[in-house]
Amino acid sequence: MPEPAHFPATSQLAGCIGAVQIRTDAESCFAASFDNSRFSFLPEAVIFPRDEQDVATVLRLANQHRVPVTVRGAGSGTAGAAAPLRGGWVLSLAQWKNIEIDSAASMAFVQPGAITGEVDAAAAQHGLFYPPDPSSVKYCTIGGNIATNAGGLRAAKYGVCRDYVYGLEGFLPTGEFVRWGGPVRKYVSGYNLKDLWIGSEGTLGVITKAILKLVPRPVCRHTFLLAFSSDEAALEAATALLEKHIVPSVLEFLDRQTVTCAERRNGFPVFPPEALGGNSSAPPSILLLELDGVPAAVAEESARVREWASSALAFRETADPAAAEKLWNVRRTCSQAMFQLGNAKLNEDIVVPLRGYIPLIQFTREIMARTGLATPTFGHAADGNFHIHIMYNRDDPDQCRRAEEGILLMMQKVVELGGAITGEHGIGITKSPFLRLQHSPAEINAMLAIKHALDPNNILAPDQIFKVTNIWEHTPVKVTLPWDKH
Ligand SMILES: Cc1cc2nc3c(=O)[nH]c(=O)nc-3n(C[C@H](O)[C@H](O)[C@H](O)COP(=O)(O)OP(=O)(O)OC[C@H]3O[C@@H](n4cnc5c(N)ncnc54)[C@H](O)[C@@H]3O)c2cc1C
Repeated sequence: MPEPAHFPATSQLAGCIGAVQIRTDAESCFAASFDNSRFSFLPEAVIFPRDEQDVATVLRLANQHRVPVTVRGAGSGTAGAAAPLRGGWVLSLAQWKNIEIDSAASMAFVQPGAITGEVDAAAAQHGLFYPPDPSSVKYCTIGGNIATNAGGLRAAKYGVCRDYVYGLEGFLPTGEFVRWGGPVRKYVSGYNLKDLWIGSEGTLGVITKAILKLVPRPVCRHTFLLAFSSDEAALEAATALLEKHIVPSVLEFLDRQTVTCAERRNGFPVFPPEALGGNSSAPPSILLLELDGVPAAVAEESARVREWASSALAFRETADPAAAEKLWNVRRTCSQAMFQLGNAKLNEDIVVPLRGYIPLIQFTREIMARTGLATPTFGHAADGNFHIHIMYNRDDPDQCRRAEEGILLMMQKVVELGGAITGEHGIGITKSPFLRLQHSPAEINAMLAIKHALDPNNILAPDQIFKVTNIWEHTPVKVTLPWDKH
């Protein structure tokens, strides 16, 4: 085996920060070589810094020896952004988990490796709430959330990660310490580089601390599960709800293909046929809706939702948390259930404007007809962020070719509809082939100029986002990850 290209730099680093902080064994390097996309690119070493001084040392030496550095949280990203595309060093901050709550200020001071769900649990002890809730909330880290500007189920009402960041501390790629924003609610001093870091997928800096906004915790929830005769009927109903200016905390859409998979996996229908009028055995399209807040407001909005729900074939509702969990079952199981339709999925997170909902869902079915591959779709109907999928068998070259064609057509359609090719997962590796559909050369050049200004030696996650990586030339690794079991 050839000696790793940066062996002298790694030895020097070990001399500076201690060999115990650095792992170069095959197992550690493999574990840090991929994220949930499962595209593996081996690093030469995985570094576990003890403190800020170690981070500065890593970056200083990386610049001196031109070693690529990829920052890593929990590795739950789905775009390949945490994969060390150009090898070098992985800087793991997953052990930096400290969380402090300032109850009076409604702020959380957290290290980047803090698990998102644990930040919310700590806030809950003070009657406070950290709303951003990616479905990976039990596993993903705040650092990863900020770097991808993660969204989630509650974004409809509460917004995304960006809306909850008051301040960031960390290091420029050159190793200099910086602080953007602070523990204050207003801040307009200088350029807003805090927001430039948010969503930059680990390419512009290393986040070592975040100051997060917390809000009062909603004291009650009311959940509705509604069945519709078609995907179009469900999306029209979602639009009608938004026209009434009812703001649910959750408004999830599941198309018929998705519901079919969930019903087959669960072994029972979401609604019994008799509840749907008994005239069809075809599964319905579903909307899952949740209201939250103070009891009086939730009761008033529930009454308005009940009135609106008359356009559904059937609906169920509950204010009881245990019963609500049963209504959530179809949403929680649908993603894994899709693997009945193929052993691999292209999992996209596109966004379209409201007027694009129905053209988009119709186009997913057109792609199914054209490629012969299933296109189950679900997503966040209040903000247009839909998870469109193409299911295929990775071992079948013809299916791979058709999936590749289908996803390109899908992305072209999204841009044509005025949408975004990604709403929460980021570009990373997997969406790099589509970046130029979304952005003009002038826009990309502006982004590259920023990258060059902050990272003149191009050491932080080099080639992520901007260099087109053809994922079809790489075979995903076959591994079971913690979130696959749920
Ligand atoms: C089952 C499942 C459900 C998911 N659901 C959602 C969802 O609903 N919404 C959503 O938005 N995402 C979702 N995701 C994707 C993923 O969980 C998010 O992108 C999450 O924000 C990644 O966090 P992480 O800690 O795993 O980061 P990683 O995957 O380790 O890294 C992601 C990116 O952040 C960078 N990064 C990590 N830490 C730092 C740091 N300290 N400083 C600078 N850069 C850093 C990395 O370099 C990389 O570019 C889901 C993933 C899974 C597996």
